[in-house]
Amino acid sequence: MSTHLSPSRTHSRRVNPHTLSSGKLHHCCGSSSGYHICVCGCCRHDLRTAPKTVTNHDRVRLNGDVPPPRPAAPRRQAVADTLHVPQWSSGIQSWAVARMVVEAQGRDNVVLLFADTRAEDADNYRFNTDASALLGVPLTVVRDGRTPQEVNRDERWLGNSRLAPCSHELKQKVCRKWLQDNTDPASTILYVGVDWTEPERRPAIERMWAPWPVEFPLMSPPYRPKDHWLRESRAIGLEPPSMYRRGYAHANCGGACVRGGQAQWAHLLRDNPSLYASWERHEAEMSDLLGREVSVLRDRRGGASARLPLAVLRRRAESGDSELFDPYDWGGCGCMVDTIGGAA
Ligand code: SF4
Repeated sequence: MSTHLSPSRTHSRRVNPHTLSSGKLHHCCGSSSGYHICVCGCCRHDLRTAPKTVTNHDRVRLNGDVPPPRPAAPRRQAVADTLHVPQWSSGIQSWAVARMVVEAQGRDNVVLLFADTRAEDADNYRFNTDASALLGVPLTVVRDGRTPQEVNRDERWLGNSRLAPCSHELKQKVCRKWLQDNTDPASTILYVGVDWTEPERRPAIERMWAPWPVEFPLMSPPYRPKDHWLRESRAIGLEPPSMYRRGYAHANCGGACVRGGQAQWAHLLRDNPSLYASWERHEAEMSDLLGREVSVLRDRRGGASARLPLAVLRRRAESGDSELFDPYDWGGCGCMVDTIGGAA
C-alpha cells in the first residue's frame, strides 16, 4: 500500500466508491486511482463529513517520517533551589518525562505529583511503586477521595468527551491545591507529558497552570513515539502498565475514561466486562437521577449526532458487526491537561 501522504490538511486516501455503498467496511486501497471519495487512510473517518488534520503521529505511523526539528524553546535558567514537578499520571509518558527530569536535575528537588482517581487499573498502581523505586523518588499522592462515578453523581453531570468534571475535580483541583500549599511559582517548574504529536495543546496547558511555568520535554527532539518509551522501560527491567499490552491507547482510569471514544469502550467490554457493566449501570442510574436520558458516548455516523448508551454499544459490539460502531474512535487523552470545558 502506498504510504504517500499529501501535505494538505487531510490524510485522504482514494477508495473505491462502490465499497462505500456496498455496506462493507471502507477498505483503503491507497494505490487505486480514479476514485473520488475520500476516507482517512488510518482511521477511516469519512472526510466528506469530518475533515481531519494530519498530525505528526499520523505521519510517523504511516510513513515512518520524522518531522523537521522545531527550534527548541528557550530553557529557563536552572537554579539550585528550583523545585521540579513532573505530573505523574501512571502512564508511560509521564515516566519518560520524570526520568528525563531526574537525569537532568538529580533527585533532590524533584516531586512526582500523582492525582489518584481511585479508579486506575490495578497494574498502574504496581507500575507506580516499581517506577518510583527505580527513579529513587517517592510519589507525592494527592486525592479528592471520590471516584469519577461519584463525581458524576455529586455534580449531577455524566462526564463525556466535551465536559468531564471528574478530570477537574479529581486531578486538576487537587494538584493545584498541592501546588498552592507547597510551592512558589517563581521557583517551581511543572512538567507535562504531552508530546510532539500534539504541539497545538501547549498554549492552553500553559494558560491552565499559570502562574506556574510548564515545560514539555517530549515536544523537543529527538522525537520518540510511545512505543519507544515502552521499550526503554522494559529495557531497564520496568514492566509498563499492562493496559498497553492489553491493547489500550491510554492507561487512564482502567480503560473507562469518559473522554474515550467508541473503540475504547468496545475494547473495555472485551477486556474487562465487569467494569464495563458497572459503567452501563452508572449511565442508567444517572439518567434516573437527572430525569432525562444521558450517555457518555455520541453516535455521529452519517453526520448526525445522537446519544449512544453503553447498553446499545454493547449490543452492537457483541453482534460482531463493526459497521455498527466506530472501531477507530479511541477518543482523546487529556485529563490533566485540558480545561474543564473540553479538549483544548
Ligand atoms: S481519565 Fe477520564 S474518567 Fe478518569 S478522571 Fe480523567 S477524564 Fe475522568
